[in-house]
Amino acid sequence: MKILTNKDLQVACQIMAEQIVRDGHGQQAVIFGVPRGGLPVAYLLSKYLSGSIVADNIEHATIVVDDLIDSGATSEKYTMLPFYALFDKRTDSVQEWYVFPWENNACHGADDIVTRLLQYVGEDPSRGGLHETPNRVLKAWKHWTSGYGQTPKAILKVFKDGAEDCDEMVIVKDIPVYSHCEHHMAPFFGVAHVAYIPNGKIVGLSKISRLVDIFARRLQVQERLTNQIADAMNDHLKPLGVAVVIECRHMCMESRGIQRQGASTITSSLRGVLKSDKMARAEFMGLLK
Ligand code: ZN
Repeated sequence: MKILTNKDLQVACQIMAEQIVRDGHGQQAVIFGVPRGGLPVAYLLSKYLSGSIVADNIEHATIVVDDLIDSGATSEKYTMLPFYALFDKRTDSVQEWYVFPWENNACHGADDIVTRLLQYVGEDPSRGGLHETPNRVLKAWKHWTSGYGQTPKAILKVFKDGAEDCDEMVIVKDIPVYSHCEHHMAPFFGVAHVAYIPNGKIVGLSKISRLVDIFARRLQVQERLTNQIADAMNDHLKPLGVAVVIECRHMCMESRGIQRQGASTITSSLRGVLKSDKMARAEFMGLLK
């Protein structure tokens, strides 16, 4: 977490102003600040761009400014005008959580999200039992989403030794899956079964469960999770065939009463001969039972 000072903002704003001038948008600029964080930026920028004014309405603006580009979703909304931000998370080397001077200073940063959520659900965040909750929640979520920082390439070290005579199906059953659905951020959990038929390359069996973790520890839909595991196996091992079956219970469905309790969702993803060859597929399905 980086708590930005007003000096930090002035430096960043001056750099941004110089860029705007270089881009030819500095003359008589009419600045629109994206509510809410872009507004103080617009006022600050007007100090560095002489002759500029702050617009009330985007229709009169010549440039749009914001405090931070996170994913780029906001800037995409304003593609009709040149868009500038003080900080751009997509390019800045610092991947920290920025806290701007106009953001709530009582509780800094990310844990504030949890505090607000506690308030939203009707809790009293100052209650004793909840004191450590925001930090614990953030820590837990970091773990549950730790797959974002990892790539299959790093763990799927294939080896050829011992693979010479391996052309029979390798199957790893009942790999635990703990993930969260991207629609409700609610847990879904169950097991994955991963099979492949080697083609001169094999992989340590423990690596397959780590592969499942890499994709499960993200916000997911079960179908994509299944496909991603199958594709990673396919890309890195170039096997004759891959099959992935995942069975999960979804809290967002069960606890909200849409689906009957205990029912699981089954998804599968087949590649190569495990898709095209009936016998190979039947063998895999037989091994699952
Ligand atoms: Zn859901």
